[in-house]
Amino acid sequence: MNILVQKFGGTSVANLECMKKVREKVLAGLSKGNKVVVVLSARAGETNHLLALASEWSPEPDKAECDALVSTGEQVSISLFSMLLRDTGIRARSLLGWQIPIRTDDDFGNARIRSIDSAALRRYLEEYDVLVVAGFQGCTEDGRITTLGRGGSDTSAVALAAALGSVECEIYTDVDGVYTTDPNICSTARKMDRVAYEEMLEMASMGAKVLHIRSVEFAKKYKVPVRVRSTFSDDPGTLVTQEDSSMEAVLVSGIAYDKDQARVTLHDLPDVPGTAAAVFGPLSEGGVLVDMIVQNTSLDGHTDITFTISRKDLKKTLELMNRVADKFGNVEVVHDLNVAKVSAIGVGMRNHSGVAARAFSALTQEGINILMISTSEIKITILIEEKYVELAVRILHDTFGLDWDIGC
Ligand code: ADP
Ligand code: ASP
Ligand code: MG
Repeated sequence: MNILVQKFGGTSVANLECMKKVREKVLAGLSKGNKVVVVLSARAGETNHLLALASEWSPEPDKAECDALVSTGEQVSISLFSMLLRDTGIRARSLLGWQIPIRTDDDFGNARIRSIDSAALRRYLEEYDVLVVAGFQGCTEDGRITTLGRGGSDTSAVALAAALGSVECEIYTDVDGVYTTDPNICSTARKMDRVAYEEMLEMASMGAKVLHIRSVEFAKKYKVPVRVRSTFSDDPGTLVTQEDSSMEAVLVSGIAYDKDQARVTLHDLPDVPGTAAAVFGPLSEGGVLVDMIVQNTSLDGHTDITFTISRKDLKKTLELMNRVADKFGNVEVVHDLNVAKVSAIGVGMRNHSGVAARAFSALTQEGINILMISTSEIKITILIEEKYVELAVRILHDTFGLDWDIGC
């Protein structure tokens, strides 16, 4: 049995007209002799709406109940779409995460998939030609509903593709594929035909929300080719796949940005063994993910530590850091919300030097001040004032020859 997994995001299922386009893609999948597993997101805006409802009801909504609530957005999509398919004469049914089941850990709001009952899915596929599965959700061992984090339907789809041995996982969205940067903020962004898993991982983790980061981790681990394409065109899209030598020839493949950043600095910490552990230990225990970290050189036995976090974690971080500051005495905690990060990514960086210098000099020419820098083998990330993000993305895009009229 050939099984094809197709995932459609919120804008693709927003209304009846859009769902009819989705039906065309599913019919195309069936016409090639496949059984099709369709993974759907909630209709555009629905998850935000449900989260807002939770906040209206409770200042700090219970996480498990919040998951039970926000997962309903996907339930609406799959039942509506299954009706549409059945009215077309297709043997189809909807499936919620717990009905399969897709088992996760119990980290409500950010759960990780542990297992998928692929045998059960195959049994359903004996009876049905299309299974319409709710993305973004699973359930714990004891049957409580979980969600996988914002954008998590991509991860549901790739995990299902891996579990079912789908030849390719098709991710349908509102753009034609993965671009050299977000096409909605840079008009010269160019669609890539192929991108390496590793580059896509960095792009997703640096803010390119076109794919959920864990979906790329799954794809890389289980070698699932992922094709990102549009529901509203016939463009073949972008294949996310294993790296090859032609990819290495390109110095920088993409520019990503992330505005969900807050910067926290602890001034005048004692520069002695154990200080960093005293700062970052409580953050890790409190479940706060720290991104960039910089420690200044010591002055009179004292130092400053600066780090960045997601804005949603700022309140908790400040509470924890004020406690750390009280323990040390004379330590000042300051924060800044007007920051954002911009990253240049490319596997070609492994074999070339000078990329960072080119990026810094281009930003300097436009008077953009660099607040923090971090690098990895295939990425340079710069923290800047938020108001310069769009400009910085365009400058770096141009500097590394990514504009569509220049080519690379
Ligand atoms: P869906 O609801 O289909 O999951 P998302 O909104 O999560 O769609 O992701 C698609 C969006 O990702 C695009 O509309 C685009 O603005 C954004 N995006 C950010 N970076 C990129 C990129 N490098 N290539 C393509 N899209 C990108
Ligand atoms: N509906 C969820 C969200 O808006 C999951 C997804 O769209 O992938 O985050
Ligand atoms: Mg998405």
